[in-house]
Amino acid sequence: TTVLVSGVSGYIGCHVARELLQQGFSVRGTVRSPEKTEQVREVLLQFTTYPAQISFAIVKDIGEPSAFDEAVVGVDYIIHTASPVHLGPVTDAKRELIDPAVNGTIGILNSATKVPSIRRVVITSSVAAIRGNTSILPEGLSELDWNSDAVEAFEKDGIASYPASKTIAEQAAWNFVRDKKPSFDIATINPSFVFGPAIHPCASTAALNATVKIISDFYLFNTTQINPASAAHYVDVRDVARAHVLAITVPAASGQRFVVSNGSFTHEAIIAVLKKNFPGRPYATGSTTATVYPVLNSKSLSVLGLGEYIPFEKMIVDTVNSIKARFNV
Ligand code: NDP
Repeated sequence: TTVLVSGVSGYIGCHVARELLQQGFSVRGTVRSPEKTEQVREVLLQFTTYPAQISFAIVKDIGEPSAFDEAVVGVDYIIHTASPVHLGPVTDAKRELIDPAVNGTIGILNSATKVPSIRRVVITSSVAAIRGNTSILPEGLSELDWNSDAVEAFEKDGIASYPASKTIAEQAAWNFVRDKKPSFDIATINPSFVFGPAIHPCASTAALNATVKIISDFYLFNTTQINPASAAHYVDVRDVARAHVLAITVPAASGQRFVVSNGSFTHEAIIAVLKKNFPGRPYATGSTTATVYPVLNSKSLSVLGLGEYIPFEKMIVDTVNSIKARFNV
């Protein structure tokens, strides 16, 4: 069974590929350049004794029409993780975020309609496509919600472009399936902030993906003040990878979206874990004023059967240990 993983050079994509290989699937990964192919192959070879399980397709820009036409030929499933992640401000949000997110998602679905062997497409969406502000409803968020606030804010003021990109892209996927009725079905995985060891190719701590960089910057004291307003939800990348694979193997995942999240965290909580486990270093000061609300992950347990989530402290400690080992910091 071969699974196409788009964005296999990315933080989550690389872990999804690792999990697939470890469960005996063959993986075809999409990367933007031949150099990335060799870097990702080197990482993934650690997780299989069968190098033939790994192959690649070059997709230079996911937003180009028909970008995935060649990559999808002969695969049984698709896991679409590729999408730009910029949590800070961007110069041209439409070009940098919205277009690749939306056109990439529609494009891969469109390419998949040309290949009858494809049974399911799992799309990496986000909690950001569900809710912008977790305090709006104190009971937490669920798979029934859409982050229409972000779409409105983006359309009106050009802000909230990352959550808007995830919301518009995911909605476009569900509309595609409703309108085109393809022979495959889809499911979405909607993770909260993802942390945990980074295994993907990465030249330096400065080049880490957006979320692991938050932890790295705290550990390296590049961030000297915590953000008092920061309160969000977290999940370990290894659980996110398992969720994606379950979303292709569990029949009942068909046509469902899944919040994948283990609870809430604050910057203050990150610092507390760092101080306890990596003492004797300078760390950011300040305290959290934001309130955190529960996240409802019950569907990931009851339908996907995700089982136990990795706890916060282990996730942070493993993240830092991976950074220390890789970058000698
Ligand atoms: P990364 O930045 O590490 O990975 C993004 C991947 O997408 C990379 O492989 C990147 O390629 C590829 N990509 C981005 N834009 C393009 C493009 N225009 N053309 C081709 N490839 C492109 O981030 P993550 O692993 O964190 O994110 C993966 C997915 O998970 C995204 O869909 C993101 O929205 C989602 N997500 C992430 C969360 C998190 O906390 N990290 C939380 C919830 C959802 P390259 O390596 O060449 O840059």
